[in-house]
Parts: sequence; C-alpha cells; structure tokens
Amino acid sequence: MGKVTGFMEIDRQVAKYQPASDRIRHFREFTIPMSDAEVTKQAARCMDCGIPYCHGPTGCPVHNQIPDWNDLVYSNKWEEAIRNLHSTNNFPEFTGRVCPAPCEEACTLNLEDAPVAIKTVEQAIADKAYELGYIVPQPATVKTGRKVAIIGSGPAGMAAAQQLARAGHEVHVYERETKAGGLLRYGIPDFKMEKNFIDRRVEQMTGEGVTFHYGVNVGVDKPTEELMAEHDAVIYCGGSETPRPAGIPGVDLHGVYDAMPYLVQQNRRVGRENIDSTGWPAEPILAGAKHVVVVGGGDTASDCVGTAFRQGAVKVTQLDIRPMPPEKEDKLAVWPFWATKMRTSSSQAEGANREFQVATLEFVGEDGVLTGVRCCQVDERRKPIAGTDFIIKADLAFIAIGFSGPMKTGVVSELEGKLTLNTDRRGSTNVVANDRDYKTSIDKLYVAGDVRRGQSLVVWAIREGRQVARAVDEALMGASVLPR
Ligand SMILES: Cc1cc2nc3c(=O)[nH]c(=O)nc-3n(C[C@H](O)[C@H](O)[C@H](O)COP(=O)(O)OP(=O)(O)OC[C@H]3O[C@@H](n4cnc5c(N)ncnc54)[C@H](O)[C@@H]3O)c2cc1C
Ligand code: SF4
Repeated sequence: MGKVTGFMEIDRQVAKYQPASDRIRHFREFTIPMSDAEVTKQAARCMDCGIPYCHGPTGCPVHNQIPDWNDLVYSNKWEEAIRNLHSTNNFPEFTGRVCPAPCEEACTLNLEDAPVAIKTVEQAIADKAYELGYIVPQPATVKTGRKVAIIGSGPAGMAAAQQLARAGHEVHVYERETKAGGLLRYGIPDFKMEKNFIDRRVEQMTGEGVTFHYGVNVGVDKPTEELMAEHDAVIYCGGSETPRPAGIPGVDLHGVYDAMPYLVQQNRRVGRENIDSTGWPAEPILAGAKHVVVVGGGDTASDCVGTAFRQGAVKVTQLDIRPMPPEKEDKLAVWPFWATKMRTSSSQAEGANREFQVATLEFVGEDGVLTGVRCCQVDERRKPIAGTDFIIKADLAFIAIGFSGPMKTGVVSELEGKLTLNTDRRGSTNVVANDRDYKTSIDKLYVAGDVRRGQSLVVWAIREGRQVARAVDEALMGASVLPR
C-alpha cells in the first residue's frame, strides 16, 4: 500500500478537459495530462483493501491488479508498474482512454463518491512506459511451428494475436479494412482515442512476428475453409457491427442514417483515408450548419453528438426512451455493481439537448428529404402517452440504438448451416461458444469478442482475446502457460 493515510489527505482528481468551446474545434484528444507528481498522489489514495473489489468480479473485466500498480506508481517504479499492468492487459493505453471504468464503480472509496482515479493512473502508466521506451517487441524465443489465423483486428483479435505470437505460434491476422483496430479505429472517434496508439501496437506486434493482411474480407475474398486448411486453428474476432433495425417509418428519407456510416466516415476523414472504402455509403454525411437529432442513449449516440458538434452542427438533440436516471444511486443497494445514474459524457457536455422518456414515432420530410422527427412522451413501460406528440426540427438524424450481430456477408453467411448462432436477450444474434474453450460448432474454428458476446466494451474484447489465445494454445500444445 502506498500512503496509509493517502485517502484521507488527498482529494480525488482526474485529468481535466479543454473547455468545450475549444475542443469542438478539432478532432484530437482533449484531456490535459496530469503531471507525474499529481498521478503519484492519486495512486497514493488506494487503500489496498482486504478484498479489492476494483479488480473483480464486479470491477475490472481483465482483473488488472490495481492496488499493486497503484503502489508501484506511488513509489515511482514505472517500469514495474507497466510490467504488472501488462500481465493482465495487453493495451492499457486503450482502456485508460475509453473504458467506462467499472473498477471505479467497485472501488471502496466510491462509497464516499470519491473512488481512486484508477483509469487516469492506468493511462498514465501506459503513456509513461512509452515515453521511457519500456514498450518494445517481446518476440518468442522458441517457435512452436504451429500456424494460427485470426479474422478481425479489433481489440479482441489484436489481444489474441499478441498472446499467441508470444507463445511461439506463427500468427496471421486477416482484416477486411485498410488498417487494424476494428471499432477502436473506425467507430470510436479520435477525440476519445487518437489512432497512433493502435499504430504503435501494430508496430510492436509486427516486431513480435504477427503478420497483418489488410483488405481481405474472409468469406468473400478468401473462403474461411481455405483459411482453416492453411492453419492449425482459426479465431473469428469479427465484431458485432450490424445496426439494429429501428423499424421507424421514414428511415428512407434523405438525411436519416445509421450511426456507423457517419462515424466510420469521419474517422476515415481524420485518418486521411477514402471515405467510401469497404461497404459504407460514399455520400459525404456532414452536420455543419444543420439541426441534428440522435436517436439512442449509449456510447455510439454520444459519439455522434460529439462528431456533429465538431462538424459545426447548429443544434444537437439526443432522444432517449429510458426515464431520466436519478442524479445519485442508492450506494448501499448497488455497490460494488455498475449503477444506473445520471451520467453525462464529454460529448453531451458540449451542449447536447437531451430528451428522456421520448419515443421516436416517425421521420418526417418533404420531397423525400428529412425535415423533422415526430416524437412523443412514453410512460414507465415505454408506452406512448396520448396527446404528447411533438416534432423536432431536423436536417440530419442518426439512429444509434444498438447492434444486432456480426456483418451478414462474410464468415457467417459463408458458413450458414454449420455455424451455430443464437439470439441473446438484447436481440443480438451471436456465434455460439463458451468462455472456457471458445470453440464454435466447427472444428478448429474459435470465436471471441463482440461476435460471441454481442456489442460490448474494449476491455471485454481484450479479455476474450487473451482467453481464446490461452484456449487455442492449450488445444495445440496440450498445455499453456498463457494467463486466462
Ligand atoms: C461508436 C462506438 C463507440 C464505442 N465506444 C466505446 C467506448 O467508449 N468504450 C468501450 O470500451 N467500448 C466502446 N465501444 C465498443 C467497442 O468498440 C467494442 O466492444 C470492441 O471494439 C469490440 O472488439 P472486437 O475486437 O470484438 O470487435 P471489433 O472492434 O468490431 O473488430 C472486429 C474487426 O473484424 C473485422 N472483420 C469482421 N469481419 C471480417 C471478415 N469477414 N474478414 C476480415 N475482417 C473482418 C472488422 O473489420 C473489424 O476490424 C464502442 C462501439 C461503438 C460502435
Ligand atoms: S481496464 Fe477499465 S475496468 Fe480495468 S482498470 Fe482499466 S479502467 Fe478500470
């Protein structure tokens, strides 16, 4: 434990943001990094509880050993801190930026509303380790002679690839897009995480022997069975990117889009790529000088809000069918679990007009072009309340109500009838495999990440990538020293 009385003497502090009026002028990250001394003070607040709820099971999905690295940071032992952090998390600079931090919800100090700034310390350890040159390729010293193919280079595929290469296997990652990262690169905007962090990891992994093959849509450009014949095992980490159908009349009007094409386009623009590559519409979708309505209340919706502000939207309204959550949770009823309470994302804080308990009835327009969104209030059971209809002016509307499973063209359509799928309680159709052996219904084919569990979080994708790597290593070699 760092400082015994740290939590009593030091107030919680997290990295501050640039003011909204400044940050909406660019697409770069806008957090102002804390000094080493400030981070060290925050680490000193950790109480090293007898039961560290922060690292599981309700806290960190990869079971980061949070009290241990807080202590190492407090003692200025950055190299040991990154070694410890890497022992559970391949990419802490990703999670340190985009994780919603269930660990902080589970922190004992959260009972007092002032959890340890775990995510801030995690990001600082990773950034400092890069600065000090501690993050370098760690190629395996002994090769196994076994070949593994991974379909998809999102956080699940990247974590699996890194683990398997370090275990001595020859690893090939096949990616449909032009660059690696999956939704980290093409879904999550740069203002939440800049993409050079992915490039640095790709470079590290290439140095560890991983080969990336871009522009290969497996199941379309290359049959999955061919890949299986060429490798000892194949892991499908294809994500869950099919937008959930909204079933709202008027979706065909010009000006109504699913969230993903919009976010993918802007990420490509920032990354200086063609906006029309791989399957999304080529028509530019831009919010400048427009009234924008975003349907949905999650991360994807928030990212549309922040993107629209940066493109110069006049007004952005976000519609959430759920009731407005309470300002504060009943701690004793929910802690150490994730609480439903009013949360305001940095994008929403940039000036979004948020409407709760509102259903979207119809997109309305003139001459085929969107002019507004007809809505109404709903009751606690989401049933429309008669006589509450109203129209919000809109030139552009985005539907961000979730995802219904992997893209239909590719592996799933090619293996139809052989690959077992099921539909979860959120209505997402996923590939079936358990979280011990990650085996699909097809021999030699494994599955991990969103394609197995439905649209989730980066940290869960990393966890599944690590675990499937262990399962494959064990199946190929009879035993594995990779951690689960
Ligand atoms: C807009 C948005 C914002 C989000 N924000 C957050 C956030 O702030 N924090 C957070 O923790 N999570 C967030 N998430 C969720 C998170 O991004 C995902 O849970 C995570 O990326 C899943 O990782 P994955 O590797 O399973 O799949 P993905 O990241 O989806 O990667 C799948 C990869 O497989 C490739 N692929 C698919 N099929 C094929 C094929 N047949 N051949 C070759 N390649 C293929 C795809 O091109 C893609 O690169 C967000 C998601 C979205 C959509
Ligand atoms: S990965 Fe997420 S849950 Fe785990 S320590 Fe980091 S911020 Fe917390």
